[in-house]
Amino acid sequence: MMRGNISLGKVLGIPLRLHYTWFIIFAWVTFLLVFSILDQNYPIEQRIGLGIITSLLFFASIVIHELAHSVLAIRNHIPVKEITLFVFGGVSQITKEATNPRAELLIAMVGPLTSLALAGIFYGLHLLLAGNQQILAASSMWWLASMNVVLAVFNLIPGFPLDGGRILRALVWYKTQDYHRATRIAAKVGRGIAYAFIAGGIALIFVLRPWFNGMWLILIGWFLNDAARASYQQVLLRDALIGITARQVTDYASPLVPPHMNLTELVEQYVLPTGRSCFLISWGAELEGMVTLQQIKKVPRTRWATTTVQDVMTPANKLRVAYADQDLLGVLQEMSGESTSHIPVIEAGKVIGIINREDIARFLRTRAEFGTSSTPR
Ligand SMILES: [Zn+2]
Repeated sequence: MMRGNISLGKVLGIPLRLHYTWFIIFAWVTFLLVFSILDQNYPIEQRIGLGIITSLLFFASIVIHELAHSVLAIRNHIPVKEITLFVFGGVSQITKEATNPRAELLIAMVGPLTSLALAGIFYGLHLLLAGNQQILAASSMWWLASMNVVLAVFNLIPGFPLDGGRILRALVWYKTQDYHRATRIAAKVGRGIAYAFIAGGIALIFVLRPWFNGMWLILIGWFLNDAARASYQQVLLRDALIGITARQVTDYASPLVPPHMNLTELVEQYVLPTGRSCFLISWGAELEGMVTLQQIKKVPRTRWATTTVQDVMTPANKLRVAYADQDLLGVLQEMSGESTSHIPVIEAGKVIGIINREDIARFLRTRAEFGTSSTPR
């Protein structure tokens, strides 16, 4: 989903990552704490120290919220790929959708409940510190308690894919027993709320004029709208891909190029006559590698005659491959991590063809036109 991530290792077996936009929000929150939220009568060194600690505790709260989702997802046999922290908080990359509304409801509800529990803990610490005359630290705990309440409430907004949207979807799903309809409704409500945020932001800017808060609302609305649309499309795609294997979209006519051939020969005998942009390199029936037009173009024309395909190809051990009977969703997930839009297909140890991302799109379009893409769930 996102590039530009820094790995923070694993928590409870789940990889934790920071998106670079996180540093912006971390710096901003720390700045606000030091220069506005914490009592300005205390010395700057104390405020900076406590500001950084408070900011870190705030982001730890977000991680704990996401971990709660992940733990329940895993308990319901849904693997979690990773947790990413970015400018708007945290995202758990849950690889599958829940298989029943009860599981979906539990996974969604545990996040806001965890935030409320954290708010309770921070409030307790606030009382304890205030009782011991630790006023500055007590005020930081108070801020953390209220931010966790804000987190819980924000996440309960019934806009898909926020927790509230998932709760709404689970409830509609339970009531109608229709997963598609539930997803459609939750996504629609999500987009409606997103537009309300944007409209509210514009109103703030032009009518009430605290333009900064208005910008913030617009940004949140834009993010919600984008997320609602993306997750709905992903659900549609998933549904369309059910029951389709790699074999069904494999291009078997893709030629196999011998590795010792030079680039002049490759271009004259394969590239120009076929108009293809990606070639499988094979000796016998075993996959040796794959070469794309970009890789060929990187070599100056004057050196084509003395450069072999083997010299420029991506070797097989560095390629991701698909297996003929693998389901297409898995293949797409493999491809999404790669920069190329082609993937070799292997059957019984032999290379049998190639899958092109555009072919998948065409395949799905054709099926959709003939109304066969909506497999009942
Ligand atoms: Zn959540």
